Amino acid sequence: MTADIADVPAARTGSAGRTSGPTHRMTGTGRPPPGRRNSYLVPRPAVVSFSGGRTSGYLLKHIVDAHGGRLPDDIAVVFANTGMERPETLDFVDTCATAWGVPIVWVEYDWDAPHRTRLVDHRTASRDGEPFAALIARKGFVPNPTIRFCTGFLKRDRIESYARYRLGLKRWHSVVGLRADEPRRVWRMRAMNCGARTGGHAALPLADARVTERDVLAWWQEQPFDLGLPGYAGNCSLCFLKGRGKLLHLIREDPSLADWWIAQEAKVANRTGPDGRACESMKRFRIGETYAELRAAALARRDLFDTAAEDEDSGPPDCFCTD
Ligand code: SF4
Repeated sequence: MTADIADVPAARTGSAGRTSGPTHRMTGTGRPPPGRRNSYLVPRPAVVSFSGGRTSGYLLKHIVDAHGGRLPDDIAVVFANTGMERPETLDFVDTCATAWGVPIVWVEYDWDAPHRTRLVDHRTASRDGEPFAALIARKGFVPNPTIRFCTGFLKRDRIESYARYRLGLKRWHSVVGLRADEPRRVWRMRAMNCGARTGGHAALPLADARVTERDVLAWWQEQPFDLGLPGYAGNCSLCFLKGRGKLLHLIREDPSLADWWIAQEAKVANRTGPDGRACESMKRFRIGETYAELRAAALARRDLFDTAAEDEDSGPPDCFCTD
C-alpha cells in the first residue's frame, strides 16, 4: 500500500520530510561523536520489534537513516497486533511503512495458523480484539499485572515465531525500543541476554544512544505526521497496566472502550480452579476492581473532578514485550 505524505494521519505542515532531528543525545546532530559506534547500525541479522508507538517509530527511522535510507535484507521489522490497538495506532504503523519506504510485517496470534502466527496487513488486521479474546478463551482466564501472559503470547512469541519459522533464523538480534530513561527495563533486558533461552539476542540502540522520551517527543514535533494519540492511549485500548486515573479518563472520553474488557471478564466470571474454588484473581484484569465497576466509577464521577492528576502512574507508554 502506498500513500502520499499528504494522506498520512495527523499530518503537520512545516518541516515536511525532515527526519533526523537535533535530539540525539550523542551529538545533537543525529550522529555519534567521533570514535563512538553508531548504535543504529544494528548487528545483523536483526528483527526490529515495532510496537506502533512514537518511540519505536523514532527507532525505526533512525535505523533506516543509518543504513542510507534503505534497510538491508537481513533486517526485518515486525508489528504484532493484539486486535485491541487503537485505530490511530494501526494507521500510524501503516503510515511509517509507506512514508519511510520500510516493509513492516504484521503478525497476529492464531491458534490454527502454522506456529500460531498468521500474517495480516493494515486492511486485514483484527480490530475488535479477536486474537486477544481467542487467547483468553483458550486460557480460561484473563491476564493481570502478575500473570501477564498477553504480552508473551500476543507479541513476543509472535515476533519470535516469525523470525524462527518464517525467516528461518536460529540466532538473531532482537532490536527493541527501550530508552535510556527506562533503566529497569533496560537492565532486565540486558540481563536476559546473559542466559538467552531463545534465538533472539536483544539490541537496544536507543538506550545505547542515551535517547530519552523527551528526545523522542521533540523529534516527532519536527515530523510531518504523528501518532495522533496521547502516549497513555497507545497499546491495547484499556490495558490493565495503565494507571487508574488514565483509565477513567479514557473511559469518560469513550465509554464504549470498556465494552470489550467487561465482556472478557464476564466470560470467565464462573471460572474455578482445579480444586473447584473460585479464582478471583483469574477473573479480573485489575486487582480489586472489575472493568464494569471501573466504567461505573468513571461515569458516576464524570463532572466531579478531572482525573488527569488522579494518579501519576500512566503505565508503560509502550508494551515492548520485554518483561
Ligand atoms: S498492552 Fe497491556 S493488555 Fe496489551 S498485550 Fe501489552 S500488557 Fe497485555
